[in-house]
Amino acid sequence: MPALCRDCFATDLPPATARCWVCGSSRVLWHAELFSLQVAHVDCDAFYATIEKRDNPALRDVPLVIGGGRRGVVAAACYVARRYGVRSAMPMFKARAACPAAMVVRPNMAKYQAVGREMRALMRATTPAIEPISIDEAFLDFRDLPVADGEPPALKLARLAAQAEAELGITISVGLGPNKFLAKMASDLDKPRGFAIIGRRDARDFLAPKPVGMIFGVGKAMREKLLADGIQRIGQLRTYPIATLEHRYGSFGERLAPFSRGLDRRRIRTARPTKSVSAETTFEDPIAGAEELSARLDRLCRRVAERLQAQVFQGQTVVLKLKTAGFQTLTRSHTLADATNDYADIFIAAETLLRREATGIPYRLIGVGLSNLSDADEFADTALWEDTEG
Ligand SMILES: [Mg+2]
Repeated sequence: MPALCRDCFATDLPPATARCWVCGSSRVLWHAELFSLQVAHVDCDAFYATIEKRDNPALRDVPLVIGGGRRGVVAAACYVARRYGVRSAMPMFKARAACPAAMVVRPNMAKYQAVGREMRALMRATTPAIEPISIDEAFLDFRDLPVADGEPPALKLARLAAQAEAELGITISVGLGPNKFLAKMASDLDKPRGFAIIGRRDARDFLAPKPVGMIFGVGKAMREKLLADGIQRIGQLRTYPIATLEHRYGSFGERLAPFSRGLDRRRIRTARPTKSVSAETTFEDPIAGAEELSARLDRLCRRVAERLQAQVFQGQTVVLKLKTAGFQTLTRSHTLADATNDYADIFIAAETLLRREATGIPYRLIGVGLSNLSDADEFADTALWEDTEG
């Protein structure tokens, strides 16, 4: 069975040895599909906390929580603090109660972003096809690398993990699979400093007992709908024909069927969207009320902000689009002083544009977009800290 030592990168290991016979390491990967899987999800371990521990060795063994401010929430908890039940996004007062001994350090977003950029550069040197998901997380795709390259992705990823430790002083966990869905699940299995593999042949058994909520895109509403039909586990989905799922759960049902079988055809999105990220909605009956239009606009702005953040883009020009009941289209735009992917910035600019046009004219469509796109340096969670200084 193919094997790989994560410490000395030896691959010619005799079968059934627990330790690497070259360097003695116990961090040896064995998997039938080890050298044929080509999609990875890489996630840094307790990213902010790890960076603070790197920069202050006195913090190494203490429970460390990144957060602060009276109304703040936990931005990151180290693995020691997690043993006490401290979790990201938990209110700080709860974290302090769960772990009174925890050291609390205020977040230094500029520093984390700098390390995040360095990490992304290491990832890009591993494969040009990366899709960043957040400051410390990305998909890496090896499917389009030239075959002549020779080195299997698993080996490149083991090197990447070693490099992150040696050059940046942080640790990562790698999930390797045949597609994004399984790679993302795998990266969570063996944290921290992990390397987990879900192959094509393990996928069904692995997924069967897992809760349906683990499927990409299954939120609370869909979970409740499935539960009402007695479906809690991913394996149960496989007992229904695709047509039944489609009939019951609409277009999303179509996606449930392949995911439940461990199949996922999504590509890595590496390219910047060409011009803009936008969202629009058409009304069944034209709407003239400013309040109602503003409420619709609000939802669209949230959607646009989410999409920008997911792709780590920001935009500088906010575009409002309206279509009158008489099918006349108007677009109005406003260029901001700074690029943003923050919902509030987008909404305030778009709403200002809307107020000038919502003069009692009935509209049948409203849309909002952000153009003038660039890579985001600021990440969505930066906004979290603006009101936590109290
Ligand atoms: Mg992480």
